[in-house]
Amino acid sequence: MKINLLNFTLPKLEKFFEEIGEKKFRAKQVFRWLHVYGAENFSDMTDIAKTLRAKLEDIATIDVPHLVSEQISSDGTRKWALEVGNGNKIETVFIPEDGRGTLCISSQVGCALECQFCSTARQGFNRNLDAGEIVGQLWWANKRLGKDPKGEKLITNVVMMGMGEPLANYENVIDAMRIMLDDNAYNLSKRKLTLSTSGVVTRLDWLGDDCPVALAVSLHASNDEVRDRIIPLNKKYPLNELIAACKRYLAKSPKNYVTFEYVMLKDVNDHVEHAHELIKLARGLECKFNLIPFNPFPNSGFESSSWSQILRFQKILQNGGYITTVRKTRGDDIDAACGQLVGKVHDKTKRQEKWKNYIPVKEV
Ligand code: SAH
Repeated sequence: MKINLLNFTLPKLEKFFEEIGEKKFRAKQVFRWLHVYGAENFSDMTDIAKTLRAKLEDIATIDVPHLVSEQISSDGTRKWALEVGNGNKIETVFIPEDGRGTLCISSQVGCALECQFCSTARQGFNRNLDAGEIVGQLWWANKRLGKDPKGEKLITNVVMMGMGEPLANYENVIDAMRIMLDDNAYNLSKRKLTLSTSGVVTRLDWLGDDCPVALAVSLHASNDEVRDRIIPLNKKYPLNELIAACKRYLAKSPKNYVTFEYVMLKDVNDHVEHAHELIKLARGLECKFNLIPFNPFPNSGFESSSWSQILRFQKILQNGGYITTVRKTRGDDIDAACGQLVGKVHDKTKRQEKWKNYIPVKEV
């Protein structure tokens, strides 16, 4: 089988070039062609000798996921569906804002964690994405978006907040993020690359050592009783362990705070007492809160908190000394909002069986 060069970080590509008897600096040239210029074929690489191009053609590929569809929301948000083999599809979302553009990237086909309020979870899990499939989303988005009138790239920030739990696909996500950060590739800064996790505690420690980027944690509850119910992973890694891991992470993080995401679920986690409990829970930890209105999907069993309740909750956290923002819902007319990414997953966990009468699997 041919080797997909998009899977390689620069050091790994250099090693590969050495193994095939080529000079190391050639690897850097090829790496730049792949990621800076978005080359689709070896024949595009005009400053690489023809003999080397032919050799690469024989043993390697530039294998990006297949682009199936592009949807553009009335607010400018774009969503792409990418086919990653065997009919599986993943989704990637671009969110333009004043002065910045954020790309939301998927890390797995589906998700194995069964967070109750998330539609990706309902689809079950098929497999991890490889590094090339993760980076391939950024590769495609750059290609589709082009540059702004000043010749600048439109994507300034990347968030690992699409389908899947990034820390459950650790090695591929780390390699993909290293490629995103490489100045011979996408040259993102560590502060503008955010990994969001539901709280795989042991791997948070690894992340701090291997590739410290900005951290967002899907907290969503102020006590274990509620969190156990909505995020089953909490039974393995309860809140006190998660908070302790966040504190350890901050010692290595490029930012001096952790962002806590908190989806506002009516009568589940949105009471005044919950806000006070959160203030106590986070004491001693530099953090910001980002309240997310719940994005509904069929038969979720949840409702979003009302605006007045969200604003009341925000006020309490602010009075408690925490910077607290409310996430603007973007792209909901094309189902591109948080927790609405579904793609198409050939479920291996049989979880879809349970839900199949309720959730239509969307064709894109
Ligand atoms: N598995 C990682 C990455 C997914 S990030 C994580 O849990 O952090 C996607 C974010 O959207 C998470 O904070 C998730 O909890 C949140 N989310 C999931 N379903 C949602 C919904 N229906 N409405 C609003 N936010 C949701």
